[in-house]
Amino acid sequence: NIQPAERLKTLPEQFFAKLVAKANARTATGADVINLGQGNPDLPTPRPIVEKLQSAAENPLYHKYPPFRGFPFLKEAVARRYKEDYGVDLDPATEVAILFGGKTGLVEISQCLLNPGDVCLVPDPGYPDYWSGVALANAEMAFMPLLESNGFLPDYAALNPDSVSRAKLMFLNYPNNPTAATATREFYEETVKFARDNGIVVASDFAYGAIGFDGRRPVSFLETPGAKEVGVEFYTLSKSYNMAGWRVGFALGNAQIVEMLNLIQDHYYCSLFGGIQEAAAEALTGPQDSVKELVRSYERRRDALFGALDEIGWKASKPAGSFFCWLPVPQGYTSMEFADLLLERADVVVAPGNGFGEHGEGYVRLGLLAPEERLVEAIRRVGKLQLFR
Ligand code: PLP
Repeated sequence: NIQPAERLKTLPEQFFAKLVAKANARTATGADVINLGQGNPDLPTPRPIVEKLQSAAENPLYHKYPPFRGFPFLKEAVARRYKEDYGVDLDPATEVAILFGGKTGLVEISQCLLNPGDVCLVPDPGYPDYWSGVALANAEMAFMPLLESNGFLPDYAALNPDSVSRAKLMFLNYPNNPTAATATREFYEETVKFARDNGIVVASDFAYGAIGFDGRRPVSFLETPGAKEVGVEFYTLSKSYNMAGWRVGFALGNAQIVEMLNLIQDHYYCSLFGGIQEAAAEALTGPQDSVKELVRSYERRRDALFGALDEIGWKASKPAGSFFCWLPVPQGYTSMEFADLLLERADVVVAPGNGFGEHGEGYVRLGLLAPEERLVEAIRRVGKLQLFR
């Protein structure tokens, strides 16, 4: 009987694994399940990127170990994208780290910066991978409630002063998973001041940075004066280019933190396959029409879904960005009970809000990750349960 190290026992339960198991069990009964529970983009990677990988696979240079910290051309490509999209200057040599998807960096940054007993400020509700990194670092979490009444932004003045004084790191994520809220420039200015005053590093998770609706481009944290002094931004190709399976992400900004992330990665990985790096550079430097089209298609889906919500009387606020909808559950149900009910009686999978933290209770998260007619069909099935009128 082999016992895991204590550290492994601190890892939070992967609640998505449970969700997938429930959905699969239902599908196995032959039911026509509409799965809107996970955050896996359903559209394919644009062809030019795939074709670049196909030709790059022939390059014998890429058959060898890549340089430890990746190829300079990929760092230059992401720096150029940031300059073009956000007006942010980044030194590709010192202010960019290549990651295996944003996820690895989001977990590793806690190990880079937190000692046992240190505190990490974590949004609630929020993306559960932040918790795992803090647990592996043997550090403590203090949750920052994201309330609808405050636009799902944390209220720094309302945080416990003891937690703030022990905090070394904080996570922010806008456009937000799961609430679909976006941040304002003023909020980020306030964040830089808060971080500076309290000696806290900011980890801005910009996974949905490309996806903003109604003509509004989401703001990058790095656009804020002073941002690079206090933090890094995590950027990924998973959502903006439908490349979730390719595992390409970046940490950008503060050179000291970028160096720490590179250092820890040196001990785990030897960078991504060179062909993937070349294809990723193609995504970042080639025509960006596919990104615009992707945003338009999520916006059409959002509008179709909200039309259907309106028909059945399910009232919610429209997402400003990301590809999620954060919908209130009807009176008398917990988010878990409601999600179970939708699966059992409507064959619709949604993610219960409490899986993202205590303040996620009372909501469910739906992904705009199916064609419009399936999204509308899902909501009409829910409508038949007569829960909203
Ligand atoms: N951050 C958030 C908020 C996410 O929702 C996700 C993926 O679902 C990630 C990070 C991880 O992205 P990646 O595919 O780059 O690891």
